[in-house]
Amino acid sequence: MIKFLDLEKVTASFEPGLSREVQRVVRSGWYLLGNEVHAFEEAFARYCGTSECVGVANGLDALTLVLRGYMEMGQMQEGDEVIVPANTYIATILAITRNRLVPVLCEPDEGTCLIDPSRIEPLVTARTKAVMVVHLYGQAADMDAVAQVAARHHLKVIEDAAQAHGAVYKGRRVGNLGDASAFSFYPGKNLGALGDGGAVATNDAELAKVVRALANYGSSVKYVFPYKGINSRLDEVQAAVLRHKLPRLDADNERRRRIAERYMAGIRNPFVALPEWREREGHVFHIFAVRCKQRDALQAYLAEQGIQTLIHYPVPPHKQEAYREWNDRSYPITERIHREELSLPVSPVMTGEEADIVINAVNSFAPKDE
Ligand SMILES: *Cc1c(COP(=O)(O)O)cnc(C)c1O
Repeated sequence: MIKFLDLEKVTASFEPGLSREVQRVVRSGWYLLGNEVHAFEEAFARYCGTSECVGVANGLDALTLVLRGYMEMGQMQEGDEVIVPANTYIATILAITRNRLVPVLCEPDEGTCLIDPSRIEPLVTARTKAVMVVHLYGQAADMDAVAQVAARHHLKVIEDAAQAHGAVYKGRRVGNLGDASAFSFYPGKNLGALGDGGAVATNDAELAKVVRALANYGSSVKYVFPYKGINSRLDEVQAAVLRHKLPRLDADNERRRRIAERYMAGIRNPFVALPEWREREGHVFHIFAVRCKQRDALQAYLAEQGIQTLIHYPVPPHKQEAYREWNDRSYPITERIHREELSLPVSPVMTGEEADIVINAVNSFAPKDE
C-alpha cells in the first residue's frame, strides 16, 4: 500500500528532536503569544526574505487578515473587487467574501493551472483593488507578468502561498513576490504543524502591524481596541514544531522534486498528461498533478493496486452550493482541470522504489472503452 502522504512517517523522521521541543514548551508554562512564536516569525521571515512575519491561527485567517488589513488601512473597501484564479481551493475565495469584497474569477493557464496573466487585464474595473495569485500545487505563478498588469492599474498583489513554502521565482522565494502573502501550516502542507497554523509575510511594516492587531482582538496595546478584531493566534507548541522543521524544508522540497523528476522521466502513457514544470526550484511539489480524461477510472485502477491518490479538487468554487449565485456560470478551463486532475503520491519520505511502483501502475493503465 502506498499512501498519498504518510504523515506518521513524516513526523517520525523529525524524532526525537520534535518531541523534545514539544516537551520543552509543555514544561515552560507559556502557551500563547510568547517567545516561541516570536522566534518562529523571525526565522520564517528570514527564510522568505521578508522583513515581517505574523503568525496566525491558519491559512484562511492569514488570507482574510491581509485583505482586512488593507481595508482598515483605507486601501480597500467593501464591494471592491479582487481578481483570483477560478481554480483554487475554496479558502482563497472565502477569504475574499468573508471581507465583503468581490471575487472576480480568472481562468488559469491550462498547462500550469496557474493564473494566466494575459486574462487579468480584461477583468480590471474601476473597483478592482488586488490580484490574489495562488501558487497552486507548489509552483510559483508568473509573477513578473502579474506585476506588470498590477502596476498599470495600481493593484495590490497578494500571494496565496499555502501550497508553496520555499518555492523560488527568479531567485526569490514565494511570500516575497508581491505586496503580502499568506501561508498555511496545516499538517499536510510542505511545512506542516501538528495542528492548525498560518502566517502572513510582507515587507509592509504598517500592514504587518495592523494584521497583528487584528489577529489579537483588534488590539496592539492591552485593553485598547482600535479595530473590531478576531482571535487568530499561532500557539507556542505549533511555533516550536515549525521552527524545528523549518531548517529541513529545503532538503524536503528537494526530495519531493526528486520524486517528481522520477515521475516525469518514467510516466509514459498516452492517456495521462504530466504537469508543466517551469523553473526547477520554482516548484516544491506540494501536489504532483497529472491530467487524465478517464480520471475516475485511473484513480480506481491505482487504488486496486494499493496506490492512494487524491483529487485537487473535484468541484470548482463556482459550482459549490456555498456560491450558488455563480452556479450557472461557465469557466471551461477550470471545469476541465477539476474533471481531469489526479494527484499522485509525493512526499519527502517516499522512496524511489515506491515511485517506480506508481510509475509502472500508471503506465499499465488503459481505459476500458479505448
Ligand atoms: C490549505 C490551503 C489554504 C487554507 O489553509 P488552512 O490552514 O487550511 O486554513 C488556503 N489556500 C490554499 C491554496 C490551500 O491549499
